[in-house]
Amino acid sequence: MTPAVQFRENARRLSADLRHREIIQTAMGKYEAVRDQRKAAFQNWEEARQLAANTKWEAINHLDGYLEQFVERIEARGTKVHWAANGEQAREAVLEILRATKARMIVKSKAMTAEEIHLNEAMEQGGHEVIESDLGEFIVQLREEPPYHIVFPAMHLTRDEIKDVFERKLGEAPSNDPEQLTMVARRVLREKYLQADVGITGANFAIAETGMISITENEGNARLSAALPRVMITLIGIEKILPRMEDLALFLPMLAAMGTGQTITCYNTLYGGPRQAGEVDGPEEYHVVLLDNQRTAVLADGEQRDSLHCIRCGACLNVCPIFRNVGGHTYGTTYCGPIGAVITPNLRGLTEWKHLSYASSLCGACTETCPVKIDLHHHLLQNRRNGSRQKPSWWQKLAFKAFVPLATRPGLWSLVTRLGRIGQRLQRPVKGTRLDPAYPWTKSRELAPIAPQSFKEWWRNRK
Ligand code: SF4
Repeated sequence: MTPAVQFRENARRLSADLRHREIIQTAMGKYEAVRDQRKAAFQNWEEARQLAANTKWEAINHLDGYLEQFVERIEARGTKVHWAANGEQAREAVLEILRATKARMIVKSKAMTAEEIHLNEAMEQGGHEVIESDLGEFIVQLREEPPYHIVFPAMHLTRDEIKDVFERKLGEAPSNDPEQLTMVARRVLREKYLQADVGITGANFAIAETGMISITENEGNARLSAALPRVMITLIGIEKILPRMEDLALFLPMLAAMGTGQTITCYNTLYGGPRQAGEVDGPEEYHVVLLDNQRTAVLADGEQRDSLHCIRCGACLNVCPIFRNVGGHTYGTTYCGPIGAVITPNLRGLTEWKHLSYASSLCGACTETCPVKIDLHHHLLQNRRNGSRQKPSWWQKLAFKAFVPLATRPGLWSLVTRLGRIGQRLQRPVKGTRLDPAYPWTKSRELAPIAPQSFKEWWRNRK
């Protein structure tokens, strides 16, 4: 089954699943209330957005220089930096470190880049045990599912479903009370941290000025993944660069406000290298893997370059009417929702993934909410255009062949619109039924009525 067919089938099933819809709407209702409070706490939210967009523009348009600066400074403190042009190279770099350190147990904190390159599967195939330490990721790992959402990986699950999986996989779930379930996860994970040979993290930002990695989180699991194992690895996309340390003063509260509706996330940590002489904790070895994986191809595309500004706050998913009805797993991609629909065709191939750009009502809510002002809904239109140019479908070819004589002969156009008006009147009694010639469209949507009068007719009558 192609990804497009799979998407359509899952979307049809889930959009009719009222229980699923209720879970998502409840979660989103709570999120919206706190997000708006946090936005209101900014002196001027629109100016903050503009400043964030300008800062990311500067970082992305001078990416070569900022990356070099970052690497030079973080290496000066003993970090080993690995450049990975694609997923395969990144996986190989990580596996090589695991082999060299004879690692058996790996604890991992949330890293969408690791999902992007299917790192867990590669490590498990290499004989390593991998434990996700973020609570939501831990739950979906137990259920053998991918994350549902960039920020809330297990938001589609009820407490009872979480209790069930704990009972089945951990043999322990005293009740469906969130606190008790969290205590079970905490006990299991604490053991794993102590046994782990290597900790792997993602990163929110890489600061060029100081050569540091910034990780923001709510559970302290990334800190433990970094502090307890002997070796630490950070996997990060090259677009996560920020020029200066002071930029965090804007980006950390902005990410917290739009991601989870918090003033600031609970733990904000900067990592600048392995344990230095005289320091009492931190990893003995620190590796940073810088992942390209088609990001430089997006950088070369002047039209969609700003999609590299994304700070993965997830806000565009939360406001998207399509995401809210079909859910995250339907997309079949690492990044879902509007940003996923924009970048997946660039990361994984336009021909196979162009259908995602049609998973949008083009209402523009995503663009309006994005804190770094990515022009998301126009990028979806550009992907539609590029997809049609690259490989038009048979019906697109036919439709445009038919459209050319209509659009170039005013007499023919006027005749067809008059016939269309009559056709619409005849169609009314069978509208939405299988007898309706426009059924493929009208079975799930309204067909816009043809205007009762064309502009030319109106002009003529006016005279
Ligand atoms: S595109 Fe914008 S709103 Fe969507 S995840 Fe990225 S930064 Fe957030």
